[in-house]
Amino acid sequence: MQSIKLLASLQAIDLELDADRRRYAENKQAMQPSSELQQQAKRVKQAEAQVAKWRKERRLRDEKATEHATKIASLEKKLYGGKIRDAREQVAMQQNIEALKRHQETLEEAALEAMLELEEAERVMNEARETFEAMKRAWIERKSALEKEQEAIVQHARQLKARREQVAATLPTEDLQRYEAMRKKLGGLALAKLEGKSCSGCGASLPTSVVQKVHEGQIVKCPICGRLLYD
Ligand SMILES: [Zn+2]
Repeated sequence: MQSIKLLASLQAIDLELDADRRRYAENKQAMQPSSELQQQAKRVKQAEAQVAKWRKERRLRDEKATEHATKIASLEKKLYGGKIRDAREQVAMQQNIEALKRHQETLEEAALEAMLELEEAERVMNEARETFEAMKRAWIERKSALEKEQEAIVQHARQLKARREQVAATLPTEDLQRYEAMRKKLGGLALAKLEGKSCSGCGASLPTSVVQKVHEGQIVKCPICGRLLYD
């Protein structure tokens, strides 16, 4: 192992690549539609179902009221058309018509109620739709900004990889393999820079003899964390 400086620059590239990968993964996650947006889409669906329900209900109640009114009209036509001669029969029919008219009021009220419910359901639906559209626009904007960032990250990573290849090509294979194995074992950090008399990898204070060897360019491991030290 003679190429500690080269390995240090290789590691610097690898750490940048790690950061790129992390950022890329975070962005990918952030590009998913948020749970709030999905929640709002559900609210729109529910509101639309309410509108459909009251639209149908209003139509049915309107039809019922109209049918009933037609029935009253035809009875009145009969009554006032002079076809019923019998006085008792006339009174009975009069009473029947009055009863039907009272029921007509109930039917009209029910039809009106359905219309009001429909209006309220439509108001709720429009509001939910507007909120959903605004949220969706914001999400699309965010997503397209992130997409641009992803492209930049990919570009950056591509450059890093090219540089890494150049550095790696100058290193003996066994050094590279050792470096890779150590990086895997030591949480992505195979080498640690000497900071004064301390290892920057674990923070340990190092014996003067170790510090000396590092300054001389010898290959020394931190006695605490096992990383290769460089200055
Ligand atoms: Zn250490």
